[in-house]
Amino acid sequence: MVPVGLASGDGLPELELMDRLAAEAARVMQTDCQVETQSLPADFAFDEIRSQVWSTPLLAKLQERRRPYGAVLLGVTELDLYVPVLTFVFGEAQLRGPAAVVSAHRLREEYYGMPPNGPSLVERLLKETLHELGHTQGLKHCNDWRCVMSSAHTVERIDIRQAGFCPTCARAIASRF
Ligand SMILES: [Zn+2]
Ligand SMILES: [Zn+2]
Repeated sequence: MVPVGLASGDGLPELELMDRLAAEAARVMQTDCQVETQSLPADFAFDEIRSQVWSTPLLAKLQERRRPYGAVLLGVTELDLYVPVLTFVFGEAQLRGPAAVVSAHRLREEYYGMPPNGPSLVERLLKETLHELGHTQGLKHCNDWRCVMSSAHTVERIDIRQAGFCPTCARAIASRF
């Protein structure tokens, strides 16, 4: 996992949050997960007018990074992400690729004018992480709304998903190894 933010430090996720996320993701995916100390500056993909970061060039930059053989690099940021055809995205991944990125920006209760909720943030971020990692393992969207691979464009939809894969998606991931 790679912290992603602006060179000024804006948008960098707290290390404690990254560590929590890495531990949870490693548990569900049954794999090793390390947090890198060197962050990825996102300034080159930052749109001043939208005040958002275009996620696709971030994936390309992540892909260029050195990584252990077979490893997936997941960028984690507090910055708001977008792709040009959409107002925002919670995250983006390369299908069967080595790079993915997730944003905590719209997963925070504060974004919706509510008091901060740490456990809810970790849960939502974990689900988005599993979803994007699923794409890197070749999974497409799943019709089972409980499955973490179902598509979700609101936090309410994220909240009703389980933090795990349905049997079909789990089998598809297991068959990759
Ligand atoms: Zn998706
Ligand atoms: Zn599924």
